[in-house]
Amino acid sequence: MNGLNGKTAVVTGAGSGIGRASALRFAEEGANVVVADVVEETGQETVDLIEDAGGDATFVEVDVSDTESVERMVDVAVDVYGGLDFAHNNAGILTGFADVTDIDEAQWDQLIDVNLKGVWACMKAELPVMDEQGSGVIVNTASESALAGMGGLSSYSASKHGVVGLTKSVALEYATRGVRVNAIAPGPTKTNIQENTAGGSADPRSLPFDTSAMRDVPMDRVAEPEEMAGVVAFLCSSDASYITGHTVPVDGGQAAD
Ligand code: NAD
Repeated sequence: MNGLNGKTAVVTGAGSGIGRASALRFAEEGANVVVADVVEETGQETVDLIEDAGGDATFVEVDVSDTESVERMVDVAVDVYGGLDFAHNNAGILTGFADVTDIDEAQWDQLIDVNLKGVWACMKAELPVMDEQGSGVIVNTASESALAGMGGLSSYSASKHGVVGLTKSVALEYATRGVRVNAIAPGPTKTNIQENTAGGSADPRSLPFDTSAMRDVPMDRVAEPEEMAGVVAFLCSSDASYITGHTVPVDGGQAAD
């Protein structure tokens, strides 16, 4: 992929799933990687995987909903690697399936804080560095549920619709300043998000992705996290130099159906 070698990337939620695949892909392309996650053990495992493959990575413990911790994450990129070229703002959570009247305020706040405020907090910390450099690329992780409603997941869907709006708006703010901002909208992907989901297992709608979500996927399979990472790498590469403000569905045709 053109333009990634020797650069520096930060990936949030890099201890698992899509974030880990993205961190490994950046490293494979020759970028230094700041591996950011709220869970130290799994984040450190990602660092070990990158180092074992000959790459350079640094773990930072971050809660993306906490602006001070996000600022520290960006400081590490600048202190250790001298700048920040790419950011994959990917950390996200899924709460259990519930109709809107059954969502309590604490659950609502937690989900919006991580999935939407977290992306804002990351961009707020990353953009000044990129702006000063006059270059940078941000990729936010939205979801297929950012492009359509999803009964039982209204707070999640709302948070991801918000990520799309943020992505478009910030892309416009930075369009002439050398910084591109895009998002990916993954379809059902084999990660740990369901195991990491609180309280959803008793609801029949929260069947494993292999049996439920793929019913709606024209390609008739779920995605591997590496299939998301490849698109993130492309969007960060110089081959995507004229793409900004867009959300790319990576969903086996789901959004086309
Ligand atoms: P995952 O649970 O495997 O990985 C998420 C990672 O984010 C974990 O390592 C977790 O520790 C970390 N994390 C959670 N809260 C955090 C916080 N506050 N601060 C920092 N790190 C935090 O899930 P995944 O499927 O890889 O999810 C990655 C992104 O992809 C999420 O934004 C999710 O909404 C989105 N997504 C996933 C799917 C899917 O089918 N897996 C589909 C669409 C969108």
